Amino acid sequence: MKQTSPHVYTRDQHPVSRSLISANALKVLYRLNKAGFDAYLVGGGVRDILLGLAPKDFDIATNATPEEIKALFRNCRLIGRRFRLAHILFGREIIEVATFRGHHDSDEKQQKPCQKTSKQNEHGMLLRDNIYGSIEEDAERRDFTINALYYSTADFKVYDFANGLADINSRTIRLIGDPQTRYREDPVRMLRAIRFATKLDMTISPETEQPIKELASLLGNIPPARMFEEFLKLFLSGKAQANYHQLNHYELLKYFFPIVAQAIEQQSLPFINSFIETALKNTDDRINHNKRVTPAFLFAALLWYPLQRQIEQLREQTQLTPQDAFFNALGEIMAEQQRSIAIPKRFQAVMKDIWVLQDKLTKREGKKAFKTFEHPKFRAGYDFLLLRAEIEQEPKLQELAKWWTDFQTNNHETQKQMIKTLGRPSARRSPRKRRKPRATTAPSKP
Ligand code: ATP
Ligand code: MG
Repeated sequence: MKQTSPHVYTRDQHPVSRSLISANALKVLYRLNKAGFDAYLVGGGVRDILLGLAPKDFDIATNATPEEIKALFRNCRLIGRRFRLAHILFGREIIEVATFRGHHDSDEKQQKPCQKTSKQNEHGMLLRDNIYGSIEEDAERRDFTINALYYSTADFKVYDFANGLADINSRTIRLIGDPQTRYREDPVRMLRAIRFATKLDMTISPETEQPIKELASLLGNIPPARMFEEFLKLFLSGKAQANYHQLNHYELLKYFFPIVAQAIEQQSLPFINSFIETALKNTDDRINHNKRVTPAFLFAALLWYPLQRQIEQLREQTQLTPQDAFFNALGEIMAEQQRSIAIPKRFQAVMKDIWVLQDKLTKREGKKAFKTFEHPKFRAGYDFLLLRAEIEQEPKLQELAKWWTDFQTNNHETQKQMIKTLGRPSARRSPRKRRKPRATTAPSKP
């Protein structure tokens, strides 16, 4: 049902206070107002405050056009093609300012073709959405009711155009408008529904949930670069494990990791699921303790067992050396993965390092252990080894992991000793070392 006039909550009826809003966002709001424009805090900034949470970032909506915004702020960049937006930069903080969106279908007909600023593909997907409109239209173009709440610093009121406050109170994720149409316009909204449900501990309403399975395949049309962005939001915000479960539940994992989803479905790789679960749990723990994480580690974890299988197959079917089989398999797996998610080169390089280190960590004789220890990605490689040992419970792997754990805590002398005694474990001595030199067969140096 279309709601024409908003519910308006005055300052004494809502908890949004300026002390909860970033000083930079307030600056932007005031300057837009001072120049005669309407400007509102919208989206996560209002929603999270109403939920008693600290907003991750602050988004602003205004009736100023991108050019008008740019003219007001020296530290402004215009970005985006699908959605033209202004980014106002304050050191590390970015305040995103969007011009009110209008309706694309009716307006489009009124505009000359050369002025077209909205475009759909054959699936109803919006390729461009740069028709400007009123605040009411802007509210209808937003995804979920809880994201269409506007706060004004001109009158300190909250404007609720889509019954968002009721959904905040009942903790419901509900698309604005007809769910089928809204998912067709932008299939990423399916991922956003899941993400907000896990992040905010909310339930997706039945009519918003219902079309997901049917329309899931539309996610296959999303450019890999945007899927990478969504991957980061789903997997590097402290809720990776919950999002992974939901992606599996809605059968959406295959749009991110087709090889992994298939292996899980066919149960063809015994360790893959517990390995991924543990890697995701560790990632969540690290993020929730403000520790650094890299997406490369997760990518490496997700694709490790598919990589191993690929190497095995190549070794069975070809005469490739182990090293060549590894690099060929890596190339094949990466190429396949890139079709779903565009993993930036710098992360691909780290994935490769982590994988290569798994082999290097086994080779410790002479100076090798010290060299590996100095590898810039040693820590990630070692953590990865620990994870494998934990999941596979294979004695040799566990011994290796323990060896490296000890190695790091020991002083240089003891480290050298550890390397010297390699291959001479007290219980089982290697046959080579046990064999006595025989003058008759062993060529002796002059
Ligand atoms: P958070 O930043 O905490 O992840 P958010 O709600 O602020 O959540 P953003 O991605 O920052 O999400 O987007 C800001 C706002 O822009 C949203 O609240 C929503 O109103 C609107 N929006 C973002 N993406 C879409 C989309 N794909 N379709 C419709 N509206 C969207
Ligand atoms: Mg936001």
